[in-house]
Amino acid sequence: MTGRFMTMKSAADFEKMKVAGSVVAAVHAAVRRAAEPGVTMLELDSIAHEVIRDADCRPSFLGYHGFPASICSSPNEVIVHGIPNGYKLREGDILSIDAGAIYDGWHGDAAFTMAIGEVSAEAAQLIEVTERGLWAGIAAARPGNRLGDVGAAISAVAAPHGYGVVREYIGHGIGRQMHEAPDVPNYGKPGRGLKLKAGMAIAIEPMFNLGTAETSVLEDGWTVITQDGKLSAHFEHTVLITDDGPVVSTLPEPKLVAAPTE
Ligand code: MG
Repeated sequence: MTGRFMTMKSAADFEKMKVAGSVVAAVHAAVRRAAEPGVTMLELDSIAHEVIRDADCRPSFLGYHGFPASICSSPNEVIVHGIPNGYKLREGDILSIDAGAIYDGWHGDAAFTMAIGEVSAEAAQLIEVTERGLWAGIAAARPGNRLGDVGAAISAVAAPHGYGVVREYIGHGIGRQMHEAPDVPNYGKPGRGLKLKAGMAIAIEPMFNLGTAETSVLEDGWTVITQDGKLSAHFEHTVLITDDGPVVSTLPEPKLVAAPTE
């Protein structure tokens, strides 16, 4: 992607990214509490905006290439980048929420998918497995490993379920810009690609589809849906690469992730 470059962060930079990340975690918690049948996407967006503003941060998404809201709200067959609208949640829906916050110039970016009331067994499993894919990717994001290790770890979680792993939308470097190099695909070959080093920060964000991986974009130019209309789930965290291992910044408290045990 043109115009993007990779930046290395200091320990002080990471501290600011942790503040931004904790605000994103607070947005997630507030939206999760509020999301129930009858609630609209616009209501969730205003809740998110309020949390970010009350923390003296700015929303990463609002105004980004003209995006009109503070969150992306992506129900059911919407994969990512849904624009909050008047859609009212219904029992049985699944809903993906992506949010970003800027603290003192530094970004945090994270997403989750939740069930609205009782959902089908296959929807519940899609959510659970996609989240597991994210954590497998995070565990692989250790200094000395390569981006191919991260992508391979993610897609290996999807494979036994036959899920489509979205290829057109992927993770990214993050820092003073929401989107920096490198690209962080959710697929790859172990041992290939850029070597991870302490001081890098990446957003890892698998999107798994119940059907095929193919995507379409709606006429609004933003909303990405599955081409076959089947459900999609999305989980994302911002991950700081340190000498001790990957640290997830987009949680209420930063979390160092241990190496996977053999
Ligand atoms: Mg992202």
